[in-house]
Order: sequence, then C-alpha cells, then structure tokens
Amino acid sequence: MIYNEEYETLPREVLEVLQLKRLKQAVQRVYHTVGFYRHSFDQAGVQPDDIKTLDDLKRFPFTTKQDLRDNYPFGMFAVPMSSVVSLHASSGTTGRSTVVGYTKRDIDTWSELMARSFVAAGLTKNDIIHNAYGYGLFTGGLGAHYGAVRLGASVIPMSGGNTKRQIMILQDFGPTAICCTPSYALNLAEQGKAMGVDMRSLKLRVGVFGAEPWSEKMRQEIENAFGITALNIFGLSEIMGPGVAMECIEGRHGMHVFEDHFLVETINPDTGEILPPGEVGELVFTTITKEAFPLIRYRTRDISRLIPEPCRCGRTFLRMDRVTGRSDDMLIIRGVNVFPSQIEAVLLAIPGVEPHYQLIVDRTGNLDTIEIQVEVGEQIFANADEVKVLQNMERQIVKDIKDYLGVSAKVKLVEPMTLQRFEGKASRVLDKRRI
Ligand code: ADP
Ligand code: ZN
Repeated sequence: MIYNEEYETLPREVLEVLQLKRLKQAVQRVYHTVGFYRHSFDQAGVQPDDIKTLDDLKRFPFTTKQDLRDNYPFGMFAVPMSSVVSLHASSGTTGRSTVVGYTKRDIDTWSELMARSFVAAGLTKNDIIHNAYGYGLFTGGLGAHYGAVRLGASVIPMSGGNTKRQIMILQDFGPTAICCTPSYALNLAEQGKAMGVDMRSLKLRVGVFGAEPWSEKMRQEIENAFGITALNIFGLSEIMGPGVAMECIEGRHGMHVFEDHFLVETINPDTGEILPPGEVGELVFTTITKEAFPLIRYRTRDISRLIPEPCRCGRTFLRMDRVTGRSDDMLIIRGVNVFPSQIEAVLLAIPGVEPHYQLIVDRTGNLDTIEIQVEVGEQIFANADEVKVLQNMERQIVKDIKDYLGVSAKVKLVEPMTLQRFEGKASRVLDKRRI
C-alpha cells in the first residue's frame, strides 16, 4: 500500500518538473533570507537564477556541518522565530549538536513523510505503534509520533529507557508495530527473555528501525528474536528527522528517498566530485520544500549508494542502500578502511556469536590496533570442551575479519551480558587514540 499514491508514484519526467519548480523557489528563498547562503553563493559566483535545470544544482556550493555549527543556534533559519513552531537538535553524536527549526507547514510535511514511511512498512490506522525512540530534542520520538497520529494509528509514546516497563506494555497493550534503534530492539529482546517473556508470541508484526547503522545480519537477529519483519528507516535532524527515506515491505532492499521533498546526490567524500548513481559515496541532500531550516547541498558524511533500479512496490522514488556509517566513523587500521557495521556483519555470520560487541582502537608505536570484544552465547560455556570451543571461535573470528575486511584484529570473547547495552544510538567504538 502507498500513503500518497499521487506523489509517490509520479513518473520520473513529471517528478523532475516538480522538483525543478520547487528547487528554484528554495534557492531564491535561501538567497534572500539567510545571510550564510547569500555569502556562500556570491563567493562561488552563482545566483538563484542560474538554476535552469536540475543539473545546475551541482554548480552550487556545499553546506557542511561546520557551517551549521558556525551559525549556531539560529543563524541558518529562513523565517522569523514567530513562524517557528518547534525546535529540535541533532543528537550531537559527532560534536556540538545542531539546532533545527520547523514551521507549521514543515511539521505537516514531516508528519506526512512519517505516515508514508509507516504505510511503506505495511501499517494502517488499525495498528498500535510502540514508539521507543527517545522523545525530546532528538527528532526520533516526536517525528515517529507525528506520523503515527497522521496515519490515524494508535501510538504508545514510550520513549527510550525503562526497559522492564516497556516489556510489560508490549505484553499488556499488544502493539502490532515497534520503532526504536536496532540496538535498543536487541536490548528489549534480551530483557524480555530475562523476564521469561516469549517475545515471539507478542502481537508485534513489524519493526521500523533506524537512527544508527546496522547490518543485514542484525536484521535477521532482530527478526528472529521478535518474530517480526524489520525495516530500515533513515533520517537526520538537519534534513528533517526520521522519514527522509524508508524501506518498503514489498522490496525490503534499500530505502525510498522522498524525492518530492528532498534531492539526493552521492559524492566522493575526498574530492567532492559527483558520483554516478550506484557508486558508493557520501550522501548530499537538498531540501526543496522546507521553510524554517532549508538546506542546499548538505554534506551528511553518511556513506551509502543510490539504487537506480525500479522497485517492485510501484514507488518511483530512488532508493538508497543501507548507510554503512559516517565518514568520521570509518576506522583506518594500518591503512585499511573499515566501518564498525562491516565488522558487525562478519561477526554475526559466525555461529555462537551474540550481537553485542565493542571495538577498541588504540595505537602501539605508530601502528593502529583494533580489539574486538564480543559476547558469546551461554551454551558455549555449558560445553564440556569450553576452552577448545572458545579458542576455535576466536581463531575463526580473526580469520574471517582478515579474509573479508583485510584487517588484523585482536579478538576477546566475553561472557553474555558483560558489554554495555544502549537505549538510543549505540556507541560501538572506544578510540583510545583520542584520549
Ligand atoms: P547525530 O548526527 O548527532 O547523530 P541525528 O540524531 O540527527 O544526529 O542522527 C542522524 C544520523 O543518524 C544520520 O546522519 C546517520 O548517520 C544516522 N542514521 C539515521 N538513520 C540511519 C539508518 N537507517 N542507518 C544508518 N545510519 C542512520
Ligand atoms: Zn519499494
């Protein structure tokens, strides 16, 4: 099913006409209302009138996270505060958080895009949605909330944390869908098990998970733990919040970018050069309908690729692949680039390994080292040959990480429940080089 059939299935030629019209307006608007853009366009020698085709966007300068930080808190707003009805901030995962604002119409758009996302996940107004994204400045909670209300579903505004209580609500209220970070989903499943609850017999049918990188293997773990279909949702506060792109239940591969509101490009993160669709690079977004906090060519630092092939669901919007991580999360271990999510994928393919791991990066002399701490299942410790089994497993992990990723890692197997658990975004890497 499709929430907004008219827009979500627009033929590409028609979509492009709409995009161009909206882009022209957006560029005019920012040039005349935001000092930063006037200055940056002038410096690059471009004018709003230079947008004659969609392709002309590439002549315009990028906007970076640093630009947002330099204009903290409200310097990038394109409307007076009297028109701003709501403020949010990014989680600040990689430094000072950025403040974003919404007009009434922006909230309206956001609600619709989240409603579209839920419908893409196969949900209807008859569903009960357990929303365990954090409510507050973080956009996850309220964004999903708005979408559920717009759809007419029944939303349970749980927010994150208070895990035991969440398990009770999951049993008592019988939600049919859940949204939270994938790492919190695992945390919930584990807590449920500890409380003797069969998480697979809950009424949950679908999960909408995002806000952090996760692997295909992690999807399987979560699907098995809850007996649900797990889908990926992408978003970032700067562009709107959750609901910038959403996987459809029909395709289950790649997230449709809501291209009637956002333009997406991929670039080479080192050179800024635009990449052809399908190649892996940094995602760059332009908002074409946002009023309070419009962004032109915003460099997200998120690494992914666009999937140009059409999807079987009938939506015509481009899809983006899983985000493997942010360019700043990329670890460089003795010259080899690797993302934590790639390590996750290798680990979870090994039987007996649990989906809880921590990466410790350090430096000995001038060589970078990585230690992978990972939990192993209880059954291994019950084995009479415990030591041998553990040794074999450790050897297997070292070998697979080397074979698949080209990285020599030290592996430390730890007992169940020893590593940190997360309620929101997981933090997998402890970088001792920075301490
Ligand atoms: P912060 O950048 O401080 O974490 P946000 O809370 O706005 O602020 O989070 C947005 C970021 O979360 C994205 O830029 C991306 O790195 C990550 N993210 C969001 N959804 C996903 C997803 N489905 N897969 C991978 N990463 C995601
Ligand atoms: Zn689809």
